[in-house]
Parts: sequence; structure tokens; C-alpha cells
Amino acid sequence: MRFSPAYLLPASAALVALGILTVMSRGASPVLYEVSLVGEASREISVRVKLRRIAQRSSLHVFSRAADLHIQDQIYDVFCDEVPLRMERKRAVAVPENCSVLSWKSRMEVVGEDGILVEQQSFQSAGGEWGLLSGPASLLRFAPVSQSPRLKMTSGDGAVLYKGVLPPTSRPPFFLPFGDWATGHAELQAFKIVYHVDDPAFLGGADPWPEHLSGLKYFAGLLQLAPGDQSLHVVWVGRRDEENNINGAAGERVLLVNYTRNGDHLTARDRMRALFVLLHEQFHQIDPGGGGGESWYGESVSSYYALKALRRQAGETALLDEIWAEFIDIDRPVVHTFRDIERQMASGDRSNSFLVYTQGATFWFALDELISAETGGAESLDDYIGEIKLLRFESGEGSLPAVIRILPASITNDVMLLMEKYVG
Ligand SMILES: [Zn+2]
Repeated sequence: MRFSPAYLLPASAALVALGILTVMSRGASPVLYEVSLVGEASREISVRVKLRRIAQRSSLHVFSRAADLHIQDQIYDVFCDEVPLRMERKRAVAVPENCSVLSWKSRMEVVGEDGILVEQQSFQSAGGEWGLLSGPASLLRFAPVSQSPRLKMTSGDGAVLYKGVLPPTSRPPFFLPFGDWATGHAELQAFKIVYHVDDPAFLGGADPWPEHLSGLKYFAGLLQLAPGDQSLHVVWVGRRDEENNINGAAGERVLLVNYTRNGDHLTARDRMRALFVLLHEQFHQIDPGGGGGESWYGESVSSYYALKALRRQAGETALLDEIWAEFIDIDRPVVHTFRDIERQMASGDRSNSFLVYTQGATFWFALDELISAETGGAESLDDYIGEIKLLRFESGEGSLPAVIRILPASITNDVMLLMEKYVG
């Protein structure tokens, strides 16, 4: 039985480097994406952007963020007015001058009997009742504009499903649940939490899970949170899979989480695994730095804190022990350091990428133990993680000395040995 942490996707990624010219918005009107569902359950999204609102420079490009996030986009039939346009490498499109309307289509995945593996794509239920619009998979984006673009989404019969801001591409992915989901609501401090659930009967309701709220409260206490919009949506979609492969993804305000559909209700074991994925994504989402930097850092620290949050809650201990042992093993030999793995991934080899989760959680556990032992249990990684998470781990070179400076001076040598072993 395999649990696939390798697919717990990072919250954000760097801008695609395409040499894109800056696009200026003309006057006070921001760029508007008009997104409409074609028909009741046709699985098709149609998108139009009027370019008269954009002062077009000589070579305007739009691009999909999908390649950058290691996913497939669902975009086809890109047109400038009546003229078809070609998608180039990295799924970029050169838009000719004097184009008045840029349009394209996007095909959604269908959530059938067996559910789907959440892979940051747009999807719709078999009957068309509910779905998810994925920005990275379905929207072509402009280079940064002077104002945030806006997005209006309408149903097949013209009803407005959403009208609001489309966050810039420097932010985590934009996901938008739409239609008639079963929903559950909770408030925690400034957080307004909404669950969107595909099958409340299977899950035992749509209410937010207490372990999630408890974990969120714990994370919020550890990290310095920026004030502002604290709305948080969790989209739950099941997946029938005997190997228990499930996924998650953290967007700007939306977490996508899979659970395993085996039998006629969620088992305690599958619930624990879904909780781990949810808390991993929650830690990504709450990151005050908004993610970014080398992937090992975000994935490793999110995995460790998901496990730590579950451990603090004294839940189903045997079930947690099982997941814990899959990730944290202090005796596991380190064959590939995180630097090795980053280099491998940069050259397209993702065969060891799962180690950023397992070996990654082990690294933070070892560091946590070190701090605790040094201070006789008076301190832990919790006392330092807020400051550590403000570092961006860009090239990595400058961040590790900064981590060492944040931690107690008395453990500097031990921390350096730990970093040499795991980070490289
Ligand atoms: Zn992740």
C-alpha cells in the first residue's frame, strides 16, 4: 500500500521566465476575464479577454502557469478574434498586434464514480452540479499588469457564479469552487472557513474537521500572519484507489484535498491520511512568505508540521504512528542530500523528489529534538519556526547561515552537522 506524498504540490512557484513585456492597463478599467461554462455539463469552459483595455506593446505574450507547476494545462482553441493562435514551448502564446478579443477554451475533468486524483486541474461533477476552476490549468495569464485583473464567471444560463479579483501570478494558484457543493462553515479567530464536500454522506457531513481547526490554530500561533483576508476554502474530493494514492494542493485561499473512497464510509485510517494531506497543505497556505524558494524547504517543513500537529492532538495514535514511520526515520541513510535532489529536479529527474517529504520531515524532527535536548525541553522548533519561515530559501546559499543564526548558539556545531548530512 503506497501513500504518495510526492504529489503534495507546493503552494507557489516562480514566474515563468519568458521575457514577457510588462502590460499596462489603460485607464481605470482593469483587465477582465469573462469565463463561462458552456452548457449544463459539457465540461467546457470558454474564456474571453477584451484587449482594448490593454495598451498593447509590440509583442504581447500570454502563458499558462501549468508547466511551471509541473502539471498539464487544459487549454485549447486559442484565438485572436477569428484567427487561431499557436501555443509555443512552455505553453506561451504570442498575441498579434491589433487583436481585439483573445479567447480560448478549457476542458474540465469529469468526477465520475471513482472520483479523481487532485492535480490542480479544473473539474466538474458528472451531472454538472459542482466543479472547480483551476487558474493554472485553465487560464492564460498576462505579464504583471498595473492593476489586478478581474474575473467574472457565469453558468451556462448566464447566472453569475463569481465576480472578483484574479490574484497576480506571483501569488499561489487561483482555484475557484463553483456550483452547488454541500458546504460546512466554521470561524476560528479571524479565519472564515468553508468546506466544499463532494459526498457528505460518505464523509459523515460537511462540517469542518476539529483536527483541522486545532491544527490551524496551532500554526497561526507559530507564524506571524499578515492581516487581511482570512477566508479559507477547503475542497474535498474523493478517489477510489486501492493503493491509497491521494493528493492535495494549496492555493491562495483554497486548499484542494483528496480522500480515499474505499467501502461505504471514510475509515479511521483513511481519515487520518486525508488529515495529514490537509494539514500539510494548510501549513503551505499559511506560510507568511507565500512559499517560493527551493521546493525541499516548503515540502519538508509542511510535512513535519502536519505530523507534529496530529501528534499534539492525541488522536488515533496507532494510525498516526503508521504515517509517522513512513516519513520520520532517524536511522534512514541519507543517499541524496536536498541539494542533490534540487539539482536532479532542475534537470527533469523527479525520481527522488519524494525524499523532500520523508527525509525532509526527518530533518526537521532531528532539528526539533536537538533544540529540545539542548534546552532540557524548555524550547522546541516551535519557538523559532516563525522566524525561519520568513527566510525565502531562494538559492539556499544565504538561507542556511541565517537559520543557524536564528537558533541557539550552543547548538551551532550540531546544526551544521545536521545540515551537512541532509541539506548538502
Ligand atoms: Zn506540499
